[in-house]
Amino acid sequence: MEIEIIKTDITEIQVDAIVNAANTSLLGGGGVDGAIHRKGGKAILDECVQIRNKQGGCKVGDAVITTAGNLPSKYVIHTVGPVWNNGKSHEEELLQSCYLRVLELAVENNIKTIAFPGISTGIYRFPKNKAAAIAIGSVKDFDKILEIDKIIFVCFDEESFEIYTSLLEKKL
Ligand code: ADP
Repeated sequence: MEIEIIKTDITEIQVDAIVNAANTSLLGGGGVDGAIHRKGGKAILDECVQIRNKQGGCKVGDAVITTAGNLPSKYVIHTVGPVWNNGKSHEEELLQSCYLRVLELAVENNIKTIAFPGISTGIYRFPKNKAAAIAIGSVKDFDKILEIDKIIFVCFDEESFEIYTSLLEKKL
């Protein structure tokens, strides 16, 4: 399994699945969620609405999978990160659960390449260094990691890129 860190817009990446930092409604929002729905088109929202009708959205720490519509990837895996509340509301555990649920869905759907954004590190204000450590740690601890070929951590700003790069160097 290979880990790559790149600074780009996640909607431009061609992988089996890109991950969306969604919200519990699954109906779209700001940040990366808005960008994915804007560029991916109506097919993604239609499937999100179907899932919402069936199971009432998505819980914090859980994930669901849909088509990627017009995006270059095949699937979007939508996960709902926790809102940062000074570490008092099990945020670290919930963020780890997001990464693990995404990886489980990936294995179930024979997905070999995945691109993750920094879940919860935008509007949800999770500290970037803590979030990056959880992201890398969760991926490395995943018991079926050998079934995945490549994980890309997509950084949207220079600060995140530097945090991921230095953490990965330390952990290798
Ligand atoms: P959350 O509500 O989970 O915090 P956000 O979408 O606000 O989700 O932010 C999550 C992370 O995604 C942030 O680090 C933000 O900078 C980044 N981001 C926003 N737009 C994009 C994009 N188009 N591609 C990749 N990352 C993005």
